[in-house]
Amino acid sequence: MKSEFDLINAFARRIRRAGARQPGVVVGVGDDAAVLRVNAREDLVVTTDALVEGVHFERRWLYGVNLGRRLAAVNLSDIAAMGASPRFAVVSFAIPSATPASFLEDIERGIVLELSHHGAQVVGGNITSTRGPLVCDMTLIGACARGRAWRRTARAGDAIVVAGELGAAAAGVALLRAGRKSGTLISAYARPVARLDVARALAKTRAVRGAIDVSDGLSSDLIHLCEAAGTGCEVHVRALPVARGVRAFCRTRSVDPIDWVLHSGEDYALILAVPPRQVEETCRAIRAAGVHAAVIGRFTRARDSYRLIDMSGKERAFRAGGWDHLRKVRR
Ligand SMILES: [Mg+2]
Repeated sequence: MKSEFDLINAFARRIRRAGARQPGVVVGVGDDAAVLRVNAREDLVVTTDALVEGVHFERRWLYGVNLGRRLAAVNLSDIAAMGASPRFAVVSFAIPSATPASFLEDIERGIVLELSHHGAQVVGGNITSTRGPLVCDMTLIGACARGRAWRRTARAGDAIVVAGELGAAAAGVALLRAGRKSGTLISAYARPVARLDVARALAKTRAVRGAIDVSDGLSSDLIHLCEAAGTGCEVHVRALPVARGVRAFCRTRSVDPIDWVLHSGEDYALILAVPPRQVEETCRAIRAAGVHAAVIGRFTRARDSYRLIDMSGKERAFRAGGWDHLRKVRR
């Protein structure tokens, strides 16, 4: 079976081949969100993401409200990764016949709660029945000042800044799989926070050259950014923002916390490319929004070269090791 990323790339190629770009399409397929120009002042930013039972969640893991919040948050995170503000959403559900009506209402409540917290609203949707698993799908539209969307761009020498901490959500999933019900790590999975507060603060500074959110894992998503930007990167192990509780979790499982943090997804931190002289200002703005800021390394000229520098200064190459949903394995 092909990987999720192979399929996405093939799909994107077919979409690009399908015809000339319409006027108004500033960024088409291939970023966290598409960017559309509708007037002289603003660009529209459009993204979509679905949660599928058995792939992204098990029903016993999440209350309906948290499932709805999570659906909103994963989409909001893509809007944050574009430096935009969310506005309108349409949702679509495919529901197995045995689903209680109250569960669906809880999902809707969660969606509305999370969106309204960030100033966005649901403007339409669709419900269908299915013999398959529960599918919750959202398309989210945001806006940003004309020409200011954060693309997947970086220049050699730019700092790699991470807003948010890593490793907690995947640890939460592992604990849920093992039958645990609650705890800080499980909350990190059940209640992800899209970094729109950071995006708003940073959009004002104009210091960010490019961005991506961490949905599949730091290694995968950083490499996605590098590939789009045509750069390599160097990452310092000592600077990685390991979330609280992750080291202890890794000890009990005899897992290297650095591997865990590099390759585990679902944390929805932001990876930012920032010119060196604006790093301090950027980190200050992130921290002022109450979020952890870490400068984990820099983008380099060496295309396709992804280096990890350990505590003793030794270097090794790293690869994309994030989550591939279709294979249900780490890549
Ligand atoms: Mg994304």
